[in-house]
Amino acid sequence: MKEIVCISGKGGTGKTSLTAAFSHLAENKMICDLDVDAPDLHLILKPRIEATEEFYSGNEAIIDPDRCEGCGQCAELCRFGAISQSGEVYEIDPLRCEGCKLCVVMCPEEAIDFPPRHCGQWFRSESRFGSVFHAQLFPGEENSGRLVALLRQEARQAAEKKRYSLVLADGAPGIGCPVIASLSGADLAVIISEPTVSGRHDLERVADLCAYFGMPATVVINKADLNEDACLDIESFCRKRGLDLLGRVPHDQLFVEAMIQEKAVTELEDAALSDRIREIWSAIEIRAGLNEQKTQETITLKEE
Ligand code: SF4
Ligand code: SF4
Repeated sequence: MKEIVCISGKGGTGKTSLTAAFSHLAENKMICDLDVDAPDLHLILKPRIEATEEFYSGNEAIIDPDRCEGCGQCAELCRFGAISQSGEVYEIDPLRCEGCKLCVVMCPEEAIDFPPRHCGQWFRSESRFGSVFHAQLFPGEENSGRLVALLRQEARQAAEKKRYSLVLADGAPGIGCPVIASLSGADLAVIISEPTVSGRHDLERVADLCAYFGMPATVVINKADLNEDACLDIESFCRKRGLDLLGRVPHDQLFVEAMIQEKAVTELEDAALSDRIREIWSAIEIRAGLNEQKTQETITLKEE
């Protein structure tokens, strides 16, 4: 089984729109939305939730007002300014608490509990393109990397059970912890870039990240007709860095239309754009070794 992760160094490159199109085109796959801080693949796939699981990570300190004597020691000790007075007792701001446990250990009245921290939820759903694993981290919560790792593990297990050949994931934007958790151990990264100054800069950052982890990476230039010079610059960068450039996708109003209709762009009738995306998906399948027959055909063509 192969795991392909679509990533971008920044938001707004059209990564999710293209991942939705690939989800439409791919066969025998488990779909996974790893952007757990701000998931949006579900807006297009409209999945029907079949199972909801709670996500706990780390611990949080909670003062029991019935046991608190209001001595204020905990507030003096907390380096994160999470504890403040509330009437005759003290209380903890859960958004500031880093879960260091110091106040729990030092409270003379043993008035501070330290339960697992409820950080979010994850879901197993069904959609018109197949099964989807997705999640939502609660606002202000951290540990998104752990939730990403958990989602990937669940998606892989489900794919293995169904004897699917692919887990196709929409990774988080940027290069932070959730992106690293999305990439580690995957088979292929598909970097969705765009021909802008920041797009070029962020491509470099995410390409560095892939290189650091020894991850094979391919590049798609989305919204390609926005700036020809910037496209040429990205292509030159890919050649220099030995990055596998799969091609360009034009900036097309159909992407907006598809978003409004809550569809993948390949579900709309437009032969040229859909054909372009199909070609790119086909190349991704080959690069990932998903379709040995296609690989063989390509090798034969090259030899001819
Ligand atoms: S140290 Fe314990 S008793 Fe003192 S204010 Fe904090 S929670 Fe209350
Ligand atoms: S667990 Fe640590 S960070 Fe949280 S309130 Fe207590 S001392 Fe502050």
